[in-house]
Amino acid sequence: MADIINLLPDNIANQIAAGEVIQRPASAVKELLENAVDAGATEIQLIIRDAGKELVQVIDNGAGMSETDARMCFERHATSKIRSIDDLFGIRTMGFRGEALASIAAVAQVALKTRRHDSPIGTYIEIDNSVVRKQEPCQTAEGTSFAMKNLFFNVPARRNFLKSNAAEMRHIVDEFIRVAMAFPHLQFTFTSNGQQMFYLEKGSLKQRVIAILGQHYNARLVTVKESTDYVNIHGFVGKPETAKKTRGDQFFFVNNRFIKSPYLHHAIMSAFSEMIPADSFPLYVLFIDLDPAHVDINVHPTKQEIKFDDEKILYAFVQSAVKHALAQFNVTPTLDFDLDPGIQQLDAVSKPFTEQQQQRSASGSLYKTFTQANQAHVIDKSSGSNLKHWKDIYEIGRSDFNRPAAAMPAANGDDNEFVNRPSTASVIDERWQEAATDTKVPVQVHQQYILSQIKSGFILIDQQAAHERILYERYQRALQEKPMPTQQSLFPQTLQLLPADAALISEMLPDLHLLGYDMEPFGNHTFVVRGTPADIQSGNEQASIEGLLEQFKHFSAELKVNKREQLTRSMARNNSIPAGKVLSTREMQNIIDELFACSMPNVSPGGKYTYVSFKLTDINRMFEKGN
Ligand code: ADP
Ligand code: MG
Repeated sequence: MADIINLLPDNIANQIAAGEVIQRPASAVKELLENAVDAGATEIQLIIRDAGKELVQVIDNGAGMSETDARMCFERHATSKIRSIDDLFGIRTMGFRGEALASIAAVAQVALKTRRHDSPIGTYIEIDNSVVRKQEPCQTAEGTSFAMKNLFFNVPARRNFLKSNAAEMRHIVDEFIRVAMAFPHLQFTFTSNGQQMFYLEKGSLKQRVIAILGQHYNARLVTVKESTDYVNIHGFVGKPETAKKTRGDQFFFVNNRFIKSPYLHHAIMSAFSEMIPADSFPLYVLFIDLDPAHVDINVHPTKQEIKFDDEKILYAFVQSAVKHALAQFNVTPTLDFDLDPGIQQLDAVSKPFTEQQQQRSASGSLYKTFTQANQAHVIDKSSGSNLKHWKDIYEIGRSDFNRPAAAMPAANGDDNEFVNRPSTASVIDERWQEAATDTKVPVQVHQQYILSQIKSGFILIDQQAAHERILYERYQRALQEKPMPTQQSLFPQTLQLLPADAALISEMLPDLHLLGYDMEPFGNHTFVVRGTPADIQSGNEQASIEGLLEQFKHFSAELKVNKREQLTRSMARNNSIPAGKVLSTREMQNIIDELFACSMPNVSPGGKYTYVSFKLTDINRMFEKGN
């Protein structure tokens, strides 16, 4: 029988290999930008024509290449970034596989101009289809200019696979943004068909985020920053109100490399789960830094997927870091409803919290209590040197959430969020100061809202949402620290349930005990109920449990949270004061006091606002009274 195996000619092998790395113009954009970053450039220009199908060019002011390197860089597996297999586990550069330029040269026409700073003369090289067409000395600026023309000119089948210009442009912009976001201290410009799309000056991460994603995020970013010996995280998440129905503004970087990780995305979503509608996505731009030895980036040709040696630690760390950040800022929406846009733009509405206001609330005793009480949890970068550290944070993520958290982060650094946000702290503080001399009785509006005057204006509280929040935190505490008191019934009741419901209840029985239900299985899908949580009216045992089951099943269909969370939320919803219930002054006062003792007074467990504040200065402006 004849032998049938033969070796592919080099250029076909190259074209096949190139397919993994260069799938579309945007792939070249990513590779060329990363090479410029790796070369230590501080100014990087991207030039595109015809959505990259005609031209993708990157010009940098980095290290440049010698004549020999300029020729070598197009060889497959030619790289200056690693030398041995061990280096793979200490990588600090974006590239290391030495494939990008070889791949590009295999599927496009390339013109390279490059000069090192110590050489008076540069090198010009033209390559297409992996063949060198021209090589000569040239005059050129320090650094490198790399132009890729007519992508897939020699592989028409693949050229046909390219999408519309609009679609390819979107990919290009995405890749550009990912690199530009990761390196805010470098200048980037982006020109398409002669038109400037981006001009990004060197600056802080915050400036970069805003320059890329828009000014409206300016006062709506929450700083995330935690450090342990194992891993650091820093960056921003958007305030809950910025969550969008569509994905897009989510960025995760590991050692400055943009990655896609559904697992870590989930960690962030779960940190937000109480605060935003289930089908929306918060902004995040988060950078995780850890020893490269704990990460394997060599699992995917474009390196967008990576492996961690311990994913679970990272999950817990990311989740609690984000929760911690969110718990600290406790935002309240201010005049964010359908107002005349003219009013929204007024200084009083759009201007950040003033220095004066800041000082006033920071000197209030409640604020001090909060911050001092929180001292124990402050994570100190400099101290300690073992893994216990990340566990401290993890604990905060879990339990601190249920206690009054610091309403404001310690004032430090220029990314201090506090100055820019309407602050729950100030509302709490004012309420507290007024308490001593309080003559302002709250008023119920339409048996649904509570209007309460505070120094800077008034707040309007949604009675049900507020009560739900109060109960929810109370129940959480019951499950974690102190079981709810039980009120024994005079006459124990038996409860006959459907088999499925009985199974559900049995499963939750230990938690139900902690929540104040005294009940036991009695065989045959029946339970005896001897007592209920003290705050449920006696005689209502059966209705309370049936309502709870209903609510629980309703949530099961729509929430992706664990059973315990579902149970607390169900109970909170089921037992909360409904709209339509008339409240006495005393009851309203209790709701207000308890609400502001919550760790997250501003939203219901389901993510709806519990109150909205109205500022006197804004109201005066509406009545054209000036200030
Ligand atoms: P990798 O980045 O994985 O090393 P590439 O194929 O992207 O592989 O690049 C090959 C080599 O060419 C790099 O290791 C680097 O030494 C050199 N090189 C590429 N682009 C530039 C640039 N813009 N400036 C200086 N050197 C570069
Ligand atoms: Mg590279």
